[in-house]
Amino acid sequence: MEGWTIEVDMTDLALRVKGLRKQYAKVLAVDGLDLEVPRGEVFGLLGPNGAGKTTTLEIIEGLTTADAGEIEILGLTWAQQGQEIRARIGVQLQSTSLFNKITPRESLDLYGSYYPKRRSTEELLDLVQLQEKADAYHITLSGGQQQRLALALALVNDPELVFLDEPTTGLDPQARRSLWDVVRRMKAEGRTVMLTTHYMDEAEALCDRLAIMDHGQVIATGTPASLISDLAIPSVVELTFEGAAPEPAAFAARLDQVVERRADLWEIPTPDPKALLPRLLEAAEAAAVPFQQVHIRRATLEDVFLHRTGRSLRE
Ligand code: ATP
Repeated sequence: MEGWTIEVDMTDLALRVKGLRKQYAKVLAVDGLDLEVPRGEVFGLLGPNGAGKTTTLEIIEGLTTADAGEIEILGLTWAQQGQEIRARIGVQLQSTSLFNKITPRESLDLYGSYYPKRRSTEELLDLVQLQEKADAYHITLSGGQQQRLALALALVNDPELVFLDEPTTGLDPQARRSLWDVVRRMKAEGRTVMLTTHYMDEAEALCDRLAIMDHGQVIATGTPASLISDLAIPSVVELTFEGAAPEPAAFAARLDQVVERRADLWEIPTPDPKALLPRLLEAAEAAAVPFQQVHIRRATLEDVFLHRTGRSLRE
C-alpha cells in the first residue's frame, strides 16, 4: 500500500436517509429524498433557494418532523436513541441568535455545560481563531466572527457528525475562506460534516461528495469532479460584449452550436474549445457581432445544475 491514505468504509455510514417527505400547507418541501453519507466525509447539499435543503437538515437534526421516511444517524434512530444522537451530533442553524452582551468565552462555557462530554473553551477558541475576541460582547463581533463562534458552539460536545446550514451566507470572501479552513480542520479531526450551500464554488472547494437538490429531490449525487465530468462538456466559451449581450438565436443557428445567454454574456458549452474558437471568430466577424472578450473556462457545478434543470442555481 502506498502512502497513508485512510480508506473510508462506504458501509460505515454516518447518515442514511430513505424516502424522506415533508409537505407544508402549500409546498411539498421534501419529496422522497434518499441520502447516504459515509463517515469522515464533508458532504454538501447544494441547491437554489427553496430547494428544501434547510427542511431536510432540520428533519435529520430532529427539529422538524417528517411526514414519511427513515433516518439513521450513526446507526441510531430518533425514536429509539434520541438522547444519544443529541450527544453525538453538533448543529449550526442558518442563524444563531445570542444575547448582545454575552462573550464568546461565556457562550462556549454555557453551551458546554449542557453536555456531559465537552471540548474545552480554550481549545475551541483556538480552533476558530477567536482568542482575541474571547471576552468581547457578541454585538461587537463581525459577521464572520459570529459565524465562526456558531461553528465553535456546534462543536462544544465534541460531535462525530456536524450539521452546518449555509455557514458562509452573507460573509465576505476572506471570512468565507477562513470558515472553510475550520470545516477542513473538522474533517482532519475525523468528523463527518454535512453542510448546505447555494454557492457552487463552496461545494466544489469543500465537499468530498454532494447531493444536488431541486424541488425537494436529489437530482444528482457524486464527487464534484465526477458530477462535472459526467456532463461531458469540459469547457464553456464565454463571450462578453461592449454593452448588453445581443440575442444569440441567429448566431447559434449560423454557428450550429448551442449558445446560451446569461445576463450580459453568452455561454457556449463545448467538448473541444480549440476547434470551436476559429469557427466562432469567423462567424462573429461575418455576423458583425461586436464582442469584447472571449474567455474559456472549465465547466462547473453551476453548469451541471443548468444542464439538469434548465435553470441557474442563482435564479
Ligand atoms: P434556502 O437556501 O432559501 O434556505 P432551502 O433549500 O433551505 O432554501 P427550505 O428552507 O427547506 O429550502 O424550503 C423549502 C420550501 O418549503 C420552500 O418553498 C419554503 O418556502 C417552504 N417552507 C420552508 N419552511 C416552511 C414552513 N415552516 N412553513 C411553510 N413552508 C415552508
